[in-house]
Amino acid sequence: MGADHPECPARIHAIEDQLIASGLFGYLQHHEAPEVTREQLLRVHDADYVDAIKSAAPHQGSVELDGDTTMNPFTYPAALRAAGAVVMAVDLVMQGQVENAFCNIRPPGHHAEKAQAMGFCIFNNVAIGVAHALAAHGLSRVAIADFDVHHGNGTENIFRNDPRVMLCSTFQHPFYPYKGADSGSEHIINVPLAAGAGSMEFREAVTNHWLPALEKFKPELLLISAGFDAHWEDDMSMLRFTDADYSWVTEQLKHVAERHGHKRIVSTLEGGYELHALGRCAMAHIKVLSGL
Ligand SMILES: [Zn+2]
Repeated sequence: MGADHPECPARIHAIEDQLIASGLFGYLQHHEAPEVTREQLLRVHDADYVDAIKSAAPHQGSVELDGDTTMNPFTYPAALRAAGAVVMAVDLVMQGQVENAFCNIRPPGHHAEKAQAMGFCIFNNVAIGVAHALAAHGLSRVAIADFDVHHGNGTENIFRNDPRVMLCSTFQHPFYPYKGADSGSEHIINVPLAAGAGSMEFREAVTNHWLPALEKFKPELLLISAGFDAHWEDDMSMLRFTDADYSWVTEQLKHVAERHGHKRIVSTLEGGYELHALGRCAMAHIKVLSGL
């Protein structure tokens, strides 16, 4: 995104460093992300949009896609692999090779709409994974839990009229992208949180809104839009989640997947910009997922 931008390559290394320092790294399976295919992209994005992104990708310098989102020569290949990672993770989990997977990827995806890049996002990685699970693995109920501090407007835009997909989201409101507060439905479970809200408000939102909806929906596969930018140390937002909240919510989601989805979870990195908190919280999340 440019020099000194918070959505930076060091984010990936911050997570990897914590996995190494904690000793978890050696116990995990690691896979290199393949590029997403055009067919997989077209399940959620308009063809005109996919073509426009490809032709906008610069050979040098950078181009602006929206006020917050730029591409340099490395962005397009990274975006293809970020989306490809989630598709591969869905395949690994659905084939029973692993119970769950975490995609340590960037650029993030949940702001990308059918035909609009925004908020550092080019392709909607989590949505592409969900669409792959529906189309290639024949699932009929897939849920997404999104605890990023920003509302996943892109994910909602893509699945608004698809009741096979439940989206459960908590987000600071009013706040970027200024959507989601009044667009909930049977399968779009949006819980806005006021600036200053912390552990108690987050856990109440999950306990009172997400979990009952997920219990009823009985997802065959659960995806997580894992953004860690609601952490109190992250100055991207004014929510005050703690390290322990990320472990706790992961445990809650694991129970849902155990009860209804043969333990199947695919989690993918969204936001999280304070590198120390990001590394610790993503590690805590992965530790719970791995059961180690
Ligand atoms: Zn975010």
